[in-house]
Amino acid sequence: MPQSLRSDWNRDEAFNRITTLMRDIFDVDIAAVSLIEGGRQKFKSIQGLELTEIPLEDSFCRATWREGRPVIIPDAEKNDEFEDHLLVTKDPHLRAYAGALLRTSEGEAIGTLCAIHRQPREFTERDLRMLENLAQMAASEFELREFAYRDTLTGALSRRQFLKKFEQLCRIAEKKQLQVSVIMLDVDHFKSVNDRFGHAAGDEVLRAIVAACKANLRDFDLLGRLGGEEFAIALEGSSQKSLMIAERLRRVVSRLHFKFDDTPVQVTSSFGVAAVLPEDENIHAAILRADKALYHAKSEGRDRVVISRDLGGEHRLTSSPNPCTDHRLAP
Ligand code: GH3
Ligand code: MG
Ligand code: MG
Repeated sequence: MPQSLRSDWNRDEAFNRITTLMRDIFDVDIAAVSLIEGGRQKFKSIQGLELTEIPLEDSFCRATWREGRPVIIPDAEKNDEFEDHLLVTKDPHLRAYAGALLRTSEGEAIGTLCAIHRQPREFTERDLRMLENLAQMAASEFELREFAYRDTLTGALSRRQFLKKFEQLCRIAEKKQLQVSVIMLDVDHFKSVNDRFGHAAGDEVLRAIVAACKANLRDFDLLGRLGGEEFAIALEGSSQKSLMIAERLRRVVSRLHFKFDDTPVQVTSSFGVAAVLPEDENIHAAILRADKALYHAKSEGRDRVVISRDLGGEHRLTSSPNPCTDHRLAP
């Protein structure tokens, strides 16, 4: 599962329903659904304890994660691994634990579901089955979001999700009095990749471009697929700063090497950059300006970045194409 997707998820109603159900079914003090990434347990819903995330090594769920199967600890004070654990010896004095793994339909472990009690208690075989079923429900919920929010080919945000997140970003930035800008990216002569090497080759190019862009953006920058071979990036910062980022992305894309039918292939992309302005009624105004700048980048010869001169609506060329053109695609 893509790293960036995980950070998109927030605590959420669907997971609160699962943890409420768990507390009712198992009659426990604490119930939690969590994702595990980068050695941290991040709670998507937790009831009975105030926590947002903890290092995995400090959590009970480390046992479930490590074992790769459900783990039951009827009394932590009698458990070799956890008897000296701070959560057991000190407040909140946790005693009983039952945890199951969240796995995607492809079997990848992504998190845990756990029921915790402040008194020792047994969990029956039946409890365990219910716990596993609830874990499957939580994992499916995460996967459904993946389909709804992400473009399945490239892992970029879907158009709808990108626009929604872009709006949110603008609202937050306005409060913090920070600038936001947008970069539009369109692959140059992409149709000829499909025409010469087939659709699968085109797909590979799109995936590689998105991966290369992501590797050169921050986790919280938004990268969306707006359509076919057109992508948009929304990020905090001035359009001048975004211009430098776009230029970096342009270089990175143009240095990707592909080999189709034993033919070395390189692709380039054109970029348009624009700032979100205070007078903009909505994000579409900035997208339109970036789109116009992109149009100029195309008409000036492609493989370049053009920034919208936001207030006047003019555009100016800011970067020149990479001189190495050996295997570049022509129309
Ligand atoms: P320009 O430099 O002017 O942007 O030329 P272009 O060939 O990139 O642009 P055009 O709009 O003519 O072609 C875009 C092509 O992208 C046409 C379409 O078949 C292809 N395309 C759209 N989505 C996908 C996809 O998911 N996979 C593949 N392989 N091709 C796609
Ligand atoms: Mg194109
Ligand atoms: Mg296009």
